[in-house]
Amino acid sequence: MAQILQSTQKQVSRLVTALRIIVSSPVGIVRVTNAAMAKAQMRLRSSYCPAMPTSVAIEVTNLCSGDCVLCPVGQGRRSRSLGMIEWDNFTRLVDEVSPYVTFIGLYNWGEPLMHPRIYDMIEYVKARKIHAEVSSNLHNLETEDSERLVRSGLDVLGVALHGLSEETYRNYQPRHRFVDVINKVKAVCETKRRLGSQTPEIRLDYIVRSDNECEAPLLPDFAANLGVGHFLEETSLNLRLLPYDRTMKPRNVSEEQLRKERLELMDRWLPKDDAKVNPVYRMVRENGGIMPSGGQKIFQCTNPWHHMIICWDGDVDLCCGSYEKRYSVGNVFGASVREVWNNSRYRAARRSIRNKKQESDPWILCDVCPGMLL
Ligand code: SF4
Repeated sequence: MAQILQSTQKQVSRLVTALRIIVSSPVGIVRVTNAAMAKAQMRLRSSYCPAMPTSVAIEVTNLCSGDCVLCPVGQGRRSRSLGMIEWDNFTRLVDEVSPYVTFIGLYNWGEPLMHPRIYDMIEYVKARKIHAEVSSNLHNLETEDSERLVRSGLDVLGVALHGLSEETYRNYQPRHRFVDVINKVKAVCETKRRLGSQTPEIRLDYIVRSDNECEAPLLPDFAANLGVGHFLEETSLNLRLLPYDRTMKPRNVSEEQLRKERLELMDRWLPKDDAKVNPVYRMVRENGGIMPSGGQKIFQCTNPWHHMIICWDGDVDLCCGSYEKRYSVGNVFGASVREVWNNSRYRAARRSIRNKKQESDPWILCDVCPGMLL
């Protein structure tokens, strides 16, 4: 009975969302139809996708003011040049995808609030009645920017807050202060109250590690006291990048050495409570640091059927874990989004996930991915 009730509730909530999208914009019906078709192609796992992505992430910049110790950007790993998307490229892109997408995330690798036109960008997306989200460390938010942020119409602001004390926060972001970030969150909350705005919904994103797992149970109350939401995330160690130096050139180290380094990294950072550790990391640990082999699909990845990542330079990535330029599958400044979405590399990625690659298919990152980039 409870299950039937739950499933009915889900269906009703989906219907309400669809109706909301339909009435919100003249292209609402097209967006909902596209989303329904995208769902069907995801179920069918077709390599050619007539429906376009329902969501895109646009990396407005890959520059970052943070120094997150487990993030390749914070570690100073360079795979593509640093830069910011130009306004004309941004508006052309949004215009192109706006007939079918329902979600635009203005972030990928890098700190979005560093882009001098970020608030204009949010407004541009919102003027097209598309859900807009930003994920930020807040280091570049000045208190006086709060009003511009709230008035921009941004729907969700994810805040990277990976500790609940000065000590644990700085374990992850050594050059910044916990108290500064909290004061900025309070400033945005206060501005929302003053302007009588429901948005942006603020969410504290918290990566659970060995050093801060003891504080994680306090997060719900901490967030509620501030009047914001929260989200507990699993630690991502980016083990796949270990064989490369900061310039992303191979380090020429033996597999034995890499196994040792993987185990050390996992021992240092993964929570001691196994329930909070991704099962694939547990598997790597139990296998003495050996990574899953290429063909092993542990998770059913669906990214290439409904989501697209567009980097600041127009390169397209299959998922947010695809860090290196050489893994990009096309460029939307030289071709349309529609052309890239069904080019040979995208179709090869979809076939790779289904273990149905053809001989003529190019090599693709999904070939060596267990369905989630470790
Ligand atoms: S690389 Fe992995 S996570 Fe990314 S799209 Fe391919 S299968 Fe999915």
